[in-house]
Amino acid sequence: MLDLKIQINMTTVIVQQLTMLLAVATLALLWLLESARPFFKRANDRFAHARTNFLYAIVGISLTTIFSAFGLHALSCLAPYWSGVKLLGLPFWAQTLTLFLSFDAWMYVWHRLNHHLPLLWRFHQAHHSDREMDTTTAFRFHPLELAFSEVARFPVMLLLGMGAFELALYNLVLIPVILLHHSNVALSPTLDAALNRVIASPNMHRVHHSEIQAETDSNFGAVFSWWDKLFGTYQTPNAPEKITLGVKFIEPKFSEPIIK
Ligand SMILES: [Zn+2]
Repeated sequence: MLDLKIQINMTTVIVQQLTMLLAVATLALLWLLESARPFFKRANDRFAHARTNFLYAIVGISLTTIFSAFGLHALSCLAPYWSGVKLLGLPFWAQTLTLFLSFDAWMYVWHRLNHHLPLLWRFHQAHHSDREMDTTTAFRFHPLELAFSEVARFPVMLLLGMGAFELALYNLVLIPVILLHHSNVALSPTLDAALNRVIASPNMHRVHHSEIQAETDSNFGAVFSWWDKLFGTYQTPNAPEKITLGVKFIEPKFSEPIIK
């Protein structure tokens, strides 16, 4: 039992290191592709634009690392009393997949709440205010949004029985996907549509970053595109090249029910 625990811990560290390497490699590759094949033509200096987002990244990564360390420590202390999905006795792969899907569903719900609750929108709009969205926008989150997110995900992770390993595995997939769907790379429409059958693709996410509220209040998916399709918030990116990115409205339509 102890051996398995040590092995899982080692695996978690390897997955975390792999995530960091993959994040840097994906960021560098997308940055180059954005220069070679931009979707929207850019007039402003990309480095000056990236500087702001990297500042958000430094604050955000430091903050989430601290919160996450406390959260995961608390979860490991509570694990002997409640292990969530792990109580079902599923094979390891099925358990891992269930946790992965459930947590991505939570990310969808959390993102939707950020658009519907005025307090959350106040901070989430910092992410949407980027009018020159590119791969670096994936780091552009208000520190308070990240703090709220860390607090809100704690009971979800506890209920599901998620630990450091499952979170590391989720981040391994999430980070390259969000770097890609924020990027300003012009993928062929066929490739984008193929990706969109599974993940939130760049064109799908461009609709979400539109300055028109009816468009921004759609396509909330973080990794998978299925939640939007399942819960009726999916908007097909019919003419993504006509989208104007940014925020034009101040308050969310919080009086509208989330589930229609
Ligand atoms: Zn959003």
